[in-house]
Amino acid sequence: MVSDSESSKKFDPFEIAQYQYDSVVEKMDIDDGIKEVMRYPERVLYVSFPVKMDDGSIRVFHGFRAQHSTARGPAKGGIRFHPDVTIEEVKALAMWMTWKCATVGIPFGGGKGGVICNPKEMSAGELERLTRRFTTELSAIIGPTRDIPAPDVYTNAQTMAWIMDTYSMHMGEPVPAVVTGKPLAIGGSAGRNEATARGVLFVVREACRQLDTPLAGIRVAIQGFGNAGSMAAKFFFEEGCRVVAVSDSKGGIFNANGLDIPKVMVHKERAGTVLGAEGGEEISNEALLELDCDILIPAALENQLTGENAPRVKARIIAEAANGPTAPEADRILFERGVTVIPDILANAGGVTVSYFEWVQNLQASYWPEDKVNKRLELIMTRSFKDVFDVARQQGVPMREAAYMVAIKRVTEAIKVRGIYP
Ligand code: NAD
Repeated sequence: MVSDSESSKKFDPFEIAQYQYDSVVEKMDIDDGIKEVMRYPERVLYVSFPVKMDDGSIRVFHGFRAQHSTARGPAKGGIRFHPDVTIEEVKALAMWMTWKCATVGIPFGGGKGGVICNPKEMSAGELERLTRRFTTELSAIIGPTRDIPAPDVYTNAQTMAWIMDTYSMHMGEPVPAVVTGKPLAIGGSAGRNEATARGVLFVVREACRQLDTPLAGIRVAIQGFGNAGSMAAKFFFEEGCRVVAVSDSKGGIFNANGLDIPKVMVHKERAGTVLGAEGGEEISNEALLELDCDILIPAALENQLTGENAPRVKARIIAEAANGPTAPEADRILFERGVTVIPDILANAGGVTVSYFEWVQNLQASYWPEDKVNKRLELIMTRSFKDVFDVARQQGVPMREAAYMVAIKRVTEAIKVRGIYP
């Protein structure tokens, strides 16, 4: 099963993704041929392309786009610019996107792309030329009904605007639906920036309901104070929860009675860190994970909860705002200790769900007010939590495994009913 194994270290990311898939699918009653179909990406494009640098030199960059599955709809997933991007990583991330979209029932398959580069060492002009040329290289396989990129590591709304503009220039007409995560001025959605954190709140609220725990007054600790973490802190604070600890890469702050999150946000804006915010004692990132609290939200990095610290985690619910914060060994320990782990492919799916809303709004050329976006997000996140929670209960498995079961079943149904072409 997903949460078992020593294997996470010795395999590459795609082998891990396949291993996770295999360990769930082997227990499911699915035709062997269809199981095999879902083990591989449908398509992987490798491109190498030149970019003119500011000093007049020409540099060749290497990039990838993987489409894991389009059985349930066009491929959907981010584009990252990072020196460590590999084809195996992009294939793995594309597969995880298939499961994420299927878990929350939005009509997309999984995709992911990336360029090997170091954006921190490039000028805005170089990044724009790289983005536009990469878009041109990808234009054979992306498009509003084929594959819709979004921001990921070191790409942002501006990057998406360049992709949208380049693709539109090629088509001879504006095509906003080719990417999501765009600026509002060219068809971005209201509520997109807050969507991941809001989705985390909705699944935690539902978890509390199922576990008969009132949300108000509950103690929440959050690791990471970036887009996902700081917004989650704000939403939980507004719900009347006690946000007892928050942190960033420099360390964390703690107050057993709850921090004043709006003030912490102002301090972070000014000082660049949560450290030193009024009313908080310093706490390390490691200690935050083991704090006496009810809900723990990892919203920073991968592999934060390990076989080593999982026995000391005191939270009863862990909601994975970050991707992959729980190592497989920790998953096993937490399950045995009765901790409910709401897995990343469910807990942080609010982002891709509002990306889906953005795409729908672009195709309809009709824009929704933010309260409509939020209400629809709540409906999808709450329903998806229940779908996964019910399977976990019925089968006696961790929610991560249940989410994979729900997702794999949905993709299988799509492949079966469509049939094998020709
Ligand atoms: P971000 O870059 O805005 O923020 C990351 C935060 O983590 C920062 O506050 C940073 O200081 C902190 N951090 C870095 N190293 C740390 C460390 N060693 N200990 C504690 N904190 C540390 O990123 P984000 O968009 O908030 O994403 C965070 C996680 O959520 C990632 O795993 C990302 O994949 C996942 N996620 C984000 C979204 C989204 O819409 N933003 C959607 C899905 C998943």
